[in-house]
Amino acid sequence: MTYQEALKQGEMFLKENEVEDAKTDAWLLLAMICGIDRNFYYLHMQEEIQGEQKEAYENVLKRRASHIPLQHITGEQEFMGLSFLVNEDVLIPRQDTEILVEEALKRTKPGMRILDLCTGSGCIIISILKNRPDLYGTASDISAAALRVAEKNAKRNQAVPVFVQGDLFEPIKGTFDIIVSNPPYIPTAEIETLMPEVKEHEPRLALDGKEDGLVFYKRMIEEGYSYLNPGGYLMFEIGYDQGEEVSARMEQAGYQGVKVIKDLAGLDRVVIGGKHV
Ligand code: GLN
Repeated sequence: MTYQEALKQGEMFLKENEVEDAKTDAWLLLAMICGIDRNFYYLHMQEEIQGEQKEAYENVLKRRASHIPLQHITGEQEFMGLSFLVNEDVLIPRQDTEILVEEALKRTKPGMRILDLCTGSGCIIISILKNRPDLYGTASDISAAALRVAEKNAKRNQAVPVFVQGDLFEPIKGTFDIIVSNPPYIPTAEIETLMPEVKEHEPRLALDGKEDGLVFYKRMIEEGYSYLNPGGYLMFEIGYDQGEEVSARMEQAGYQGVKVIKDLAGLDRVVIGGKHV
């Protein structure tokens, strides 16, 4: 069997098993197993694939066909141009979250202290520090297993915040210029409607925002004000239908200049509010 035939079969197999992006995933798995890139493929696609590689490819295709996320098979996800290790203990970084990082970067000045709550893989704080090595970063998560992944990612990307374990602000000391968070925000009842990759393989803890999906925002809005320096910002990623509710709560709590920022699909994605100077 040639590389080209193996790829075609892989794609069809994933399609039959209702994997989204079957074509892309079949290619990425082949590239991983054979250690090849597109260039090599186009030059050699009519050549025979080695027996061992064919077997290994079939094995990873079977895992993907059972709806294990691609990133749990490859072990990584790209985010803000950096590579992050992932496993079942952390949420896989989403491209939408890059909007939150970009909004945070726009508001940084040298020497600022940045806090990331519910850090998960660490993708937010690590990419902020990587882009602005002159900042001080702290990140917390309730999950010790998630923090072990985040610590590896920090070393991998040479941007090392202080990691602390605990429930939101519980382990946090001092005040900050920017507090960011992409907390769990899916209402519990909606989790069952998500794709199997998410509901069966990503951590519940990282998804579940309780009854209305808003518990973590409510707590961070209320508790966060006293952790902000004057002139500082609190900023969240939110679900597409949570912009009004979250911004109204921020205004009620006394944050200023509250605004909602949309993602590339035109959906509400980030809410930002400031503390009086
Ligand atoms: N902050 C991490 C991320 O954005 C984890 C978020 C979460 O677990 N809800 O990917």
